[in-house]
Amino acid sequence: MARLLFLCAAVFLSGCAAHQPGSPLPLASDGQVAEAEAAPLADMAAEAHWNDPFPPFKVIGNIYYVGTTGVSSWLITTPRGHFLLDGGLPQTPPQIIANIQTLGFDIRDVKYLLNSHAHFDHAGGLAALQKATGATLAASAADRGVLETGRVGYGPTSDISVPPVRVGRIVRDGDRLSLGSVSLIAHLTPGHTPGCTSWSVDVRGDDGALHHAFFHCSTTTGGQTLVPESYPGMIADYRATFAYMRKVDADIFLANHANFFDLADKRARQLAGDAGAFVDPAALQEFNAQSEQEFNAQLARERDASSR
Ligand SMILES: [Zn+2]
Repeated sequence: MARLLFLCAAVFLSGCAAHQPGSPLPLASDGQVAEAEAAPLADMAAEAHWNDPFPPFKVIGNIYYVGTTGVSSWLITTPRGHFLLDGGLPQTPPQIIANIQTLGFDIRDVKYLLNSHAHFDHAGGLAALQKATGATLAASAADRGVLETGRVGYGPTSDISVPPVRVGRIVRDGDRLSLGSVSLIAHLTPGHTPGCTSWSVDVRGDDGALHHAFFHCSTTTGGQTLVPESYPGMIADYRATFAYMRKVDADIFLANHANFFDLADKRARQLAGDAGAFVDPAALQEFNAQSEQEFNAQLARERDASSR
């Protein structure tokens, strides 16, 4: 019994994945969430001003920006409840909740929580948001363990732990999550993390035109090494995802860091009267081509360095 208690305590404290299959780890406690919210920002987040506030706004149709200056969170609304994509940093949820309220929506109407990938800057706030919404978190199987333990275990964020969250639904490539007539499509785009998941949705602009919006998970390496691979199979995952992206046709490119899709610039143009500021049929392919070029350059550099 003492041994069992010790094991349970060890699992809780370390967030390790040594629990029995079929017995999910618990959602973070209120105390863990409060402590994470009050903690100082990680250096990389503070230096890049990732958690500075950004006024929430309607992007187009039923898509709203509710994130910060540096890290995106997206609200996709429907009369049957809402989708909320990404939870920001552990310190971000009060801003996301206030932003949703400012836009006139009720956080309790969020039915699905989604995550682009299980890194601290996009998954850190999910536990707090799950508590505030009671929503089901949908994620791909390959990122589930990190979400449910709050620890990545590899790469430059491996020493950062975040409040663990519960995954209620596993999605595969092409799966649709629907609320009424609005469906979000999951695109498994691994590389940046093993479970990196992009999402897309049809959206109608105020002029009645139909668009396809793509929420990119990220194909940057984000400070992770390719030689050696930060996780086994990473290089093959990136290559498959670059090829996958070449076949995606979307005219609204959105992503989880503001600088990936020029948030401030596009929002300024929108405020100046350009209703189509976020419509750009070339942006996704440009981002993909640039990421692939940077990936290949990093891989060549690291292979060269490792062979010396
Ligand atoms: Zn990341």
